[in-house]
Amino acid sequence: MNFLEEKILTDGVIKPNNILKVDSFLNHQIEIDIIRQIAYEFKRRFRGVEVNRVLTIEASGIAIATLLGDLYDVPVVFAKKSETANSTDDKYMSQAYSFTHKRMNNVFISHPYLRPGEKVLIIDDFLADGQAVHALIDLVHQAGGEVAGIGIAIEKGQQRGGLELRQEGYHLESIAIIDNMDWHTQTIHFRPQPQQKLENTPIKAQ
Ligand code: 5GP
Repeated sequence: MNFLEEKILTDGVIKPNNILKVDSFLNHQIEIDIIRQIAYEFKRRFRGVEVNRVLTIEASGIAIATLLGDLYDVPVVFAKKSETANSTDDKYMSQAYSFTHKRMNNVFISHPYLRPGEKVLIIDDFLADGQAVHALIDLVHQAGGEVAGIGIAIEKGQQRGGLELRQEGYHLESIAIIDNMDWHTQTIHFRPQPQQKLENTPIKAQ
C-alpha cells in the first residue's frame, strides 16, 4: 500500500452516493506533508516528460499543482468555475458537470495563461466521470497546447473517467485508485498498481 492509500484508510470518510471525504488533508484542511509527497510522486511518475505548465481546476487541485509547479519550476494556472456564461472574449471556455455539486459549471482560463505549443501537465484531486479533466483537456487544445500528462491523486476506478482517458491514449497517473468502497462497512479496496516502490520519495524538501 502506498502513502496515499494508507492516508485514505486512516483519515478518509465514505459518504453515501459513492463520495469519499478527505477534508482533513486535501479538500478543506491541507496537510502539507501529504501534498508534498503527492507532488514528488507525480514528478517521479512523469520522469522524462517535458512540462511547461501545470494546470488544475479550482479549488482542491491548487495545492498539489502549486507544489508540483515549484518542483518543475514552471507556471501554475487553475481554471476558474462559474455557473453563468460570461463574455468569452478573452477566455478559453469549456463546460464540466460537477459530480459533487450536481450542476453544470462553465470553466475558463484567460488567454494569457495558456499558450500555443505549451506542454501542459493536468492535475486534479479526484477523477470520477472525467468531466473536469475533459474540460481542462479541451481548454489546452483550444489554446493550441499539448497535454503532457494527467496526474490524479485519487481515482474512483468504478467510474468511467479513468477508463476513457486511458482509451483516449492519455498518460494518466493516479496515485490511489479505488476499485470499490462501501459506505455501510466503511471499507475501501484499492486497485493494485505496478509501481509501489516509494522509499525514495522524500517526505520533506531538504
Ligand atoms: P469528475 O469531473 O471526474 O466526474 O469528478 C471530479 C471532480 O469532482 C473533482 O474535481 C472533485 O472535486 C469532485 N469529486 C468527484 N468525486 C469525489 C469524491 O468522491 N470526493 C470528493 N471530495 N470530490 C469528488
